[in-house]
Amino acid sequence: MGLIYEVGDVVTLKKAHPCGSKEWEILRVGADFRLKCMGCGHQIMVARKLVEKNTRDLKKNEKN
Ligand SMILES: [Zn+2]
Repeated sequence: MGLIYEVGDVVTLKKAHPCGSKEWEILRVGADFRLKCMGCGHQIMVARKLVEKNTRDLKKNEKN
């Protein structure tokens, strides 16, 4: 069973970004996701499988 990731959701990962935040806003979904750190605004591209493997929590955007 997989989580449904959508643009605007906030995913909490198991490992913290160097800035200390574990929460990332999803900017783009696909084979690779674009994530924006909620702590410092840094953006990364990361493979969907890595996101799935490292997800601790997923907060759905109320607009989705
Ligand atoms: Zn950060």
